[in-house]
Amino acid sequence: MSDQLSNVVVELGFIEKAPAWKLRSKFFPAKVGGYPAWLALKDLPTNEELSCRRCSKALVFLCQLYAPFHDKENCFHRTVFVFVCRDPDCCQENDASNIRVFRSQLPRENEFYPPEPSKDVEPGSESPEAGDFNNLCRICGALGPKTCGGCKVARYCSKDHQALDWKAGHKEECKNPDTISKVSCKGNAKFLFPEFEIELEPEELDTAKEKTEGEVMKEYEELLRSGRVTHQNDDDSDTENDLIDMATKETDKQFQKFRMRLKDYPDQVVRYDRGREPLWVSSSNKPVDVPPCPSCGQPRQFEFQVMPQLLVHLKVDNSGKSIDWGTVLIYSCKESCQSNRNYIEEVAYKQDYSPISQVMKNHPYGAS
Ligand SMILES: [Zn+2]
Ligand SMILES: [Zn+2]
Ligand SMILES: [Zn+2]
Ligand SMILES: [Zn+2]
Repeated sequence: MSDQLSNVVVELGFIEKAPAWKLRSKFFPAKVGGYPAWLALKDLPTNEELSCRRCSKALVFLCQLYAPFHDKENCFHRTVFVFVCRDPDCCQENDASNIRVFRSQLPRENEFYPPEPSKDVEPGSESPEAGDFNNLCRICGALGPKTCGGCKVARYCSKDHQALDWKAGHKEECKNPDTISKVSCKGNAKFLFPEFEIELEPEELDTAKEKTEGEVMKEYEELLRSGRVTHQNDDDSDTENDLIDMATKETDKQFQKFRMRLKDYPDQVVRYDRGREPLWVSSSNKPVDVPPCPSCGQPRQFEFQVMPQLLVHLKVDNSGKSIDWGTVLIYSCKESCQSNRNYIEEVAYKQDYSPISQVMKNHPYGAS
């Protein structure tokens, strides 16, 4: 078993443009943004479960990976969903309380999908989807227990999302209930992240080019320099060198390894490496005492991580604060156990570039 595992390479996820119909539940997508493509179409996570632990507002869908366990009958289909709070104030360093993760799985014979994969690849045929079995919030795609009092058609998870939709155009549309779509609206573009497919491919490491520590250090310094020189004029170059010295000394080696490992595939947004060691951003703030699975008591193991490059595609960057992460680490039940619920909450951890951000903060350059 362990020999077999050691041959397994890391699967890297990359962003691809894909037509919306291809990212529906029936095609078992791995994707970023848009509505969640729920796997089990009933017994979705509750609105409470899909709310931020900090501010209690509804979370936004971040990404999902389709990751069946081939040796487990009840994991013939298996998808892990990641949600995050949109509020930058809920984003704290090395703290994932603004992120929640859910696992759903189904045997080959199940009540939602045919045992043979769907060949129906034409646009327009959306079923089966969670909207066939549930009223879903038009803004976020979670359960929508609240109904618009005017049209009695539009459904929402919360007053917040109703208000958002009202301002985004439902105020007008509400007068003509016959024309209202149950599953989409203008307002969702203000809330959801842009939608993309995630394509997975194996990481090929060039072992012949294995670098010495000195080489890694040198390249790392160059990396730092290249990011800084544009801001400074010649007078600052001494201070700049000081900063680089300080950063390379104070930044731990793990962060350098992290940067170097990404060099050949800088666009990776996800690393899938179930049961093995994550690519740590830092040697500090590693998860300790990952709680066992509450449903079966078995340990949880590392399954995959979300990389900082994904942030580029989310369009969250603005001049002020925004959500971010060094990496988000997802841990899930080792056994991927069956439970009486269709969605089981797993755990996320967040690691940030703390040593370097501390250096930057302590240095006058950090502010500019
Ligand atoms: Zn929040
Ligand atoms: Zn909602
Ligand atoms: Zn209405
Ligand atoms: Zn379990």
